[in-house]
Amino acid sequence: MEHPENNEEYKGLTVNSGVGPVSIVNPYLKHGRFARKKLSAADYVEGILKGNVSILGQAVTLVESTVPEHHQMAQEVIEKCLPYSGNSVRIGISGVPGAGKSTSIDEFGIHVLKKYGGRLAVLAIDPSSELTKGSILGDKTRMEKLSVHPDSFIRPSPSAGSLGGVARKTRETIILCEAAGFDKIFVETVGVGQSETACHSMVDFFLLIQLAGTGDELQGIKRGIMEMADGIIINKCDGNNVEKCKLAATQFRNALHLFPMPESGWLPKVLTYSGFYGYGIEEVWNMVYEYIDFVKKNGYFDYRRAEQAKYWMYESINEQLRRSFYDNPTIKDMLQAMEKSVLEGHKTSFVAAKQLLDSYFALLH
Ligand code: GDP
Repeated sequence: MEHPENNEEYKGLTVNSGVGPVSIVNPYLKHGRFARKKLSAADYVEGILKGNVSILGQAVTLVESTVPEHHQMAQEVIEKCLPYSGNSVRIGISGVPGAGKSTSIDEFGIHVLKKYGGRLAVLAIDPSSELTKGSILGDKTRMEKLSVHPDSFIRPSPSAGSLGGVARKTRETIILCEAAGFDKIFVETVGVGQSETACHSMVDFFLLIQLAGTGDELQGIKRGIMEMADGIIINKCDGNNVEKCKLAATQFRNALHLFPMPESGWLPKVLTYSGFYGYGIEEVWNMVYEYIDFVKKNGYFDYRRAEQAKYWMYESINEQLRRSFYDNPTIKDMLQAMEKSVLEGHKTSFVAAKQLLDSYFALLH
C-alpha cells in the first residue's frame, strides 16, 4: 500500500542522506607532539615513587595487560616497588549487590581522609567483570565525592582471566599503590562466592556489609563468609528501618558467639550505620582502627601478612603452571580432540586428563 508520506504534498518529509559520524579520535594525534612517550620500567618506578597518579594508572594498566612483554615489565616494576610497599592499612569491603557498597565507600573514604589524612586507593575484585565486559565495582561514577578527591585513586576490577588472575592483579596493584604513597587501601568485592576468599587473603581487616531483611538474615549467609569477617556492619539503619537493623545486629552477635574465637584474638563486632545519611560512620572506623591497633600489638597483623604472602606464592605457582599447560600449542591442539572424545563418551575424563598431562610432562623433557 502506498504510504501517505510518499505523496507529492508531503515532499518536506523526504530524508536526505547526511554526513557520516565524525571520528572522536584526532587521526593526526599519534604522529604529533602529544604522542605518549613509551615508558621504561625505571620510568614507571620513578613516577610511582614520586606519587605520580597518572604514571601509577599506566603501571596498573601494565599489570592488567595480557601481553607477555607487558607482563615481564610489570613484574620488574612490582619487584622494584616491593621494598616501598606494605606501609598501609588494607581493608576489604564486601556485600551483595545493593547492600550499599559504593554509597558506603564514598562516605567511608571521605571520612577517613578527613579524620586520618593520607591517601586512599579503592580497588576491586569482580570475577564477573569478564562476562559483563565491565566491572560494576570500583566504578568512579558510583563514588561521586571520592572520585573528585585529590587524595584518592579509584580503579575498577581487572577484567581478564580467572578469579585467581583477577585477584593476583589486584594484589599487585596494592603494592604499586602503596609504593606511590597510598596508606589506605580499600578492596571492594561483591558478596557472592569465591571472590571474598580472594579479597580476605590480601587485607588486614575484612568488613562485611549486611542488610536487615525479614528477620531471617542469617539464613542467606554462608558460614564461611561470616567467619572471615572482622566486622559486620548493617547498612541502611535509617528511617523506619532502624528497629529491624538493631534486631539483625543482635542476631548476628548471637551467631558470632557460636563460632570459635578467631586466631586474631579479636571478637568481630557488629554495628549498624547508614551510608546514605552518614549515621554511625565514625563508630565503624573507630572499630577498624581499634582492631588495627589491637593486632599490631599482639603480633597478629604481621603474622597475617606473612601468611598471605605465603598463600600468594602458592597461588602464583598454581597460576603459572596452569598457564604453561593451557598455553602450550601442542596441548591446545590435543585438548580439542580430547574434549570431543570425552563429550562423545569414547574416553573417561580421568583417562583424557592423564593422557594430556603425560603428553605435557613428556614435552618438558
Ligand atoms: P552496591 O550495589 O552494594 O554498591 O549498592 P549501592 O551503593 O549502589 O546502593 C544500592 C541502593 O541502596 C541505592 O539505591 C542506594 O541509594 C541505597 N542505599 C545505600 N546506602 C543506603 C543507606 O544507608 N540507607 C538507605 N536508605 N539507602 C541506602
